[in-house]
Amino acid sequence: MGRHVYVHNPFCISKCPYCDFYSLPCVSGDKIRAFYKTCLKETEYLASEYKALEDDYPDTVYFGGGTPSYPEESYITELLKTITDSFGIGDCEKTIEVNPSSLTMEKAESYLRAGFNRASVGIQSLDDNVLRLLGRRHDSGGALRALDILKKAGFTNISADLITGVPGESIGGIRTDCIKLARAGVKHISTYSLMICEGTSFYSIYKDTLEDIVSPDQERAMYHETMSCLSDLGFVRYEISNSCLPGYESRHNSSYWEGFEYYGIGAGAHGYLDSVRYGHKDDIDDYIRDFKANVYIEEQMTPEDKMREYPFLKLRTLKGIDRARFSSRFGADIYDVFGDAIKENMTQDLLEESDGFIRLTKKGLDLADLVAESFL
Ligand code: SF4
Repeated sequence: MGRHVYVHNPFCISKCPYCDFYSLPCVSGDKIRAFYKTCLKETEYLASEYKALEDDYPDTVYFGGGTPSYPEESYITELLKTITDSFGIGDCEKTIEVNPSSLTMEKAESYLRAGFNRASVGIQSLDDNVLRLLGRRHDSGGALRALDILKKAGFTNISADLITGVPGESIGGIRTDCIKLARAGVKHISTYSLMICEGTSFYSIYKDTLEDIVSPDQERAMYHETMSCLSDLGFVRYEISNSCLPGYESRHNSSYWEGFEYYGIGAGAHGYLDSVRYGHKDDIDDYIRDFKANVYIEEQMTPEDKMREYPFLKLRTLKGIDRARFSSRFGADIYDVFGDAIKENMTQDLLEESDGFIRLTKKGLDLADLVAESFL
């Protein structure tokens, strides 16, 4: 398995009040052009500097953000072509995140012609009141129109994001959203709980009050209802936040949970190359000036670090940790390294083992972060 490619587009039409991603609203066309020109240079630099791992080429490309469907589509399609040519990428999963408010038929057709074969749509909800509260620029009609555009353009692999735990959201409403999305042809659904992050507009409004408005129990009930409804619709949960129809798992996300390396391109992007985890500063001007100087080292991963990180990542998946794979990858039995953590979590009914896999129990799935941290 080769390295993967992630591109961070830091532009959006406006800033959603809950968002803590690096995304800038209302940026001038000149700056957007300069940013994508720099991405082209960074791509060529990375391809010349980092040779393919064991002659194995990247097998997923992901354009996230921000809103990649906001800039002119020519920037996106040109960059995808440069990535494909520079890294020698063939047929593989190529995803673009799109927003209902900026997607047009022309853009969808261009993306498909350029080689994207998977679209991930920031739907978040199909309840207009919830969408208004989240500061989204689309309504439910716009969200369904975006799905229709993608299908008519020819996309067959479409994912949608949903947010649970939003004030005013109801369990019945979430069930209806899931049913409508499945009927609209969505094959993959990512479900996130609303997080109140420092630095966002929501932080000053909800930091002390969200739990009074939506209690943790209510939030969990919404999450469980989403999972149960998706299961009724034939979706299989394969990771804590991700469910899909059989065969539509995100290969890109799966590569993160496997601890594979990836190229991170663009201001705000993170990458992992030659055992070094790195980030790009959240500063587009700095990136345009000098993309190499814009990079900072997050962590140099030793073999020990990689082994310790593996359960942390892998326990997010419903399959869990393959004991045999762990042994062949790290040269040790997982019980010799993490025996205490495994046994302690099993005693508390948070972990279980069957068929050579160690995985979270139903109870453990709700406390996944806690369990994962006990391995670090
Ligand atoms: S569209 Fe997405 S990336 Fe942009 S501000 Fe809203 S949540 Fe953040």
